Amino acid sequence: MADTQSVVSDVKLFLERLKKEMPEIFGTNEKSAATDGTPSVAPATNKVLYNGDLFEARTYITPDQEEGVAFDGTVFHVYLQNQNGNPSALVTDWLRHKAGEILPQKTKEWAEKIGVEYNRVVLKDQRTLWASCSSQKNINYSYRIVKMPPVVQDYLVIHELCHLKFMNHGEEYWNLVGQFSPDYKLHRRWLNEHKDAVFEEVKLSVTAQDDTPMPPEETAASSEEKAEIKAETERQPDEK
Ligand SMILES: [Zn+2]
Repeated sequence: MADTQSVVSDVKLFLERLKKEMPEIFGTNEKSAATDGTPSVAPATNKVLYNGDLFEARTYITPDQEEGVAFDGTVFHVYLQNQNGNPSALVTDWLRHKAGEILPQKTKEWAEKIGVEYNRVVLKDQRTLWASCSSQKNINYSYRIVKMPPVVQDYLVIHELCHLKFMNHGEEYWNLVGQFSPDYKLHRRWLNEHKDAVFEEVKLSVTAQDDTPMPPEETAASSEEKAEIKAETERQPDEK
């Protein structure tokens, strides 16, 4: 699995390259995205939970590019080199990297407001625990927290930081949480109702070429390069 840092720098490159080469997919018109000659588009059932919203994920077979993920604020674009690529693993890596950006930042900001000092932030992949606070004042988070709405992410950060003042769930503790997260009861309810979705693994499929027939005239009209990509991906199933 590629390390997250290189995936992210790749993503930035993809984004720049795609904006130049395929500006259509950055528009909001789905029809133009589906007929722009892109070799493979995933079915609309492919969804990614991020920041409390379900976003469409589209997979593309692009043998001349490195694998990676680009999120344009509306759609997750997942680039694979062939049909055997693993879009779920790529998006999971992307989410982990986002967690590595978002959670340490939120922790720093809220710690200053609450007036507590912690040692460091550790990202984990605990299957049943969103976050915890160690006796060494380390704050541990599941990377899956980035799937939650930002206000719920904040609540979890506040929850852990308040344990640096009260290592229990007593009345004083909840009063402190309530000072910084007044709607924490609503956020706890959200967590209860959505925990299965948050802990669920990302499941994306690569669309078989047969499932997304491309209008030949529009595909051919794009560019020679795209026609080559299409021919390449069409050969893939036979090579296995
Ligand atoms: Zn707690």
